Amino acid sequence: ALPIFVHWYLYRSRAATVTPKFLVLGPSGAGKTALITTLERGAPTATHTSLTPLTIAAPLPATHTPSSARYRSTNDAALRLVPILFTDTPGHGKLRHLALGLITPAPPTPPPTGLIFVVDAAALSSEADNAGLRDAAEYLHDVLLALQRAYERAKSSVAREIPLVVVAGKLDLFTALPAGVVRSLLEAEIGRVRETKARGIVGVGKGGDGLGGEEVVEEGALGGRAEGKFEFGVMEEWGIKVSVVGGNVRGEGPGVTGLWDWVAGQI
Ligand code: GDP
Repeated sequence: ALPIFVHWYLYRSRAATVTPKFLVLGPSGAGKTALITTLERGAPTATHTSLTPLTIAAPLPATHTPSSARYRSTNDAALRLVPILFTDTPGHGKLRHLALGLITPAPPTPPPTGLIFVVDAAALSSEADNAGLRDAAEYLHDVLLALQRAYERAKSSVAREIPLVVVAGKLDLFTALPAGVVRSLLEAEIGRVRETKARGIVGVGKGGDGLGGEEVVEEGALGGRAEGKFEFGVMEEWGIKVSVVGGNVRGEGPGVTGLWDWVAGQI
């Protein structure tokens, strides 16, 4: 084992530049706190009820290799010592603006390394008017739109790609839908959310200044258009790479391996 001061030195020397920070978002009750406490300790702990975001630090498990170390001949022990920070955010509808503010912070605060959007895969279903699906899709729509706007605002030289993973959680529950189904349900529902919001904006635009309401909407909508099928893939045009992985922190299932795989790929 390395002497403690070497750990400290490695930690300090890298931490200044490369401490990876992930922001954890999603509706209330999706399992965000249970997920990050599992990343930290291997098992979920009691729900965090405070309004202040909870940040935990966890090293990458020895079973995973950071993508930045993959082609290095040197031992990547130093990288492993760098803790990865995960910040939980409040999922309640009225507090989501706090989370949205953290996604695209004002400079000089660096943006997060990536975003982890947690959904309860047992609370979504394709049945008409599923409130869980609608709520998750609305929130994810707003997150993606905030990223799209930030990308458009940034000068192209500083616009940064941002990865987002949707965790289809609670896969141990027998009512949970597999990750692939969660993906298509969310895409379809986000398409509907986008259309609904566009109609709202058209209504406002028409009352006013002679600007073509439709055109304004087409430009501002998520993925560049307000109608038709929405797919996560279109977001790559704005530097947003969306992945979907399944996971669970209780019972039997794939656990958090898929999420660690994704995290390792981003650092
Ligand atoms: P948050 O509001 O998103 O932070 O959600 P919590 O982490 O507080 O989790 C909400 C509830 O879901 C808690 O009762 C958790 O124990 C439960 N939960 C979280 N993850 C899982 C899981 O993978 N499987 C099961 N069965 N329950 C889970």
